[in-house]
Amino acid sequence: MLNRENKTDVIIVGAGPAGIACGITLARAGKEVVIIERGLFAGSKNVFGGAIYTKPTLEIFPNFETEAPVERRNIEHNFAILGEKDSTTITYRKDDNTSYSVIRGKFDRWAAEEARKAGAYIVEETVVRELIKENDKIVGVKTELEEFYADVVILADGVNSLLAKQIGLRKDIQTKDVALSVKEVIKLDKETINQRFRLKDDEGSIVEIFGGPMLGMLGLGFMYTNKDSVTIGLGVTLNELVEEGLRPYDILEKLKQHPTIAPLIEGGTIKEYSAHLIPEGGYKAIPQLCDNGVVIVGDAAMLVNNLHWEGTNLAMISGKLAAETVLEAFEKKDFSKSTLSIYETKLKNSFVLKDMETYKDLMDVMHSRKKAFLSYYMKKINAFFEMFTSVDGVPKKENYHKFIKSIFTDRKISELFKDAWAIIKLLWSILL
Ligand SMILES: Cc1cc2nc3c(=O)[nH]c(=O)nc-3n(C[C@H](O)[C@H](O)[C@H](O)COP(=O)(O)OP(=O)(O)OC[C@H]3O[C@@H](n4cnc5c(N)ncnc54)[C@H](O)[C@@H]3O)c2cc1C
Repeated sequence: MLNRENKTDVIIVGAGPAGIACGITLARAGKEVVIIERGLFAGSKNVFGGAIYTKPTLEIFPNFETEAPVERRNIEHNFAILGEKDSTTITYRKDDNTSYSVIRGKFDRWAAEEARKAGAYIVEETVVRELIKENDKIVGVKTELEEFYADVVILADGVNSLLAKQIGLRKDIQTKDVALSVKEVIKLDKETINQRFRLKDDEGSIVEIFGGPMLGMLGLGFMYTNKDSVTIGLGVTLNELVEEGLRPYDILEKLKQHPTIAPLIEGGTIKEYSAHLIPEGGYKAIPQLCDNGVVIVGDAAMLVNNLHWEGTNLAMISGKLAAETVLEAFEKKDFSKSTLSIYETKLKNSFVLKDMETYKDLMDVMHSRKKAFLSYYMKKINAFFEMFTSVDGVPKKENYHKFIKSIFTDRKISELFKDAWAIIKLLWSILL
């Protein structure tokens, strides 16, 4: 595929969802694409919860529901607030196909094969060490062994994106802008999973977990059902782990022992343990998205909607929009920053930057009011349901009065005003 000068149309660094979506779109349009992946195979280095979302995935892989190695079709979404020994769970259940649980080692490998079938050339077990810059334009990449040249280089190298840092498009990640996530895959037989999660056949369930051992911290836990395993994990902002001197694995161990969680994984054997960073900085942490000859996509561009646990969809669609921009650049024969910045406009017109912008103030509010929202009120929700479900001979009105009074004795009026103001401000910025 490469001609004598090792020059191709487009080089993509990273064969995750962003890189593959970009590569497959370009290859289908007839461009010569080389995707360079440091892992043994696409997906071998990837850590994930997780669910992929049907609509955006269909945009890239129209055949994935019937042909990709998906695990289960998620029909249930649970939001569990854990107290020390109790919990309150809200469940939304609908028999549809909004998302599927997948194991990235399998799914990414399949997706990479689809890109190969479309004509992309994938080089595995190769690390891109440096970008090559000539006359203020990125013109290629240096791997351990050789140099490759292209009209455009796409950085799809994930959350750390050392390459974006090398060329000054990204600064060092601040510890408040990333969560360290740890997860385990626990093997259980299919019937046990179906019985414990009230599922049948290929149905799957997602549990989002608040509080418990993460009480008061900017952190969330998660569980996903696979065919014959359950993924359990959590992510906590890195600066909190450092400040509190906590090890995420210890928090995960406590989470697994919680009386609401333990029965779901009892008797299972740990198949896999892994850790990874998740971009959490939101809209305000998005870097400059392109420069002469180079475009950044997916996690490398910090495109994650952490409230909704969405990352793969933003990665795939940003990859696709980057590819469409590059195709326009080929038509114009102009790979300058000004032409490649059409990518930013495309992102702004799509759900990707619209959603990121919707939640632009979320992390600031959560950082400033975390003890209130992620500790005090979480405890209060469980306390309310404890009171509401108790049958103790005390007149109900007395219980209600006691509960309401406790809020005013626990928290100063000024704090309650600050909490209410933070919610109003947040809703204002989300809805308007
Ligand atoms: C624990 C966890 C749970 C998650 N759960 C969900 C979920 O349920 N749903 C969801 O949508 N998202 C979820 N996410 C987020 C999602 O995984 C990411 O947003 C998504 O993988 C980003 O895709 P990407 O292609 O940008 O980056 P990645 O998937 O990280 O891919 C980057 C690729 O680049 C390669 N690479 C890096 N540097 C180099 C180099 N120098 N040379 C060559 N190759 C390189 C890597 O090996 C990797 O394959 C989760 C993330 C974590 C950590």
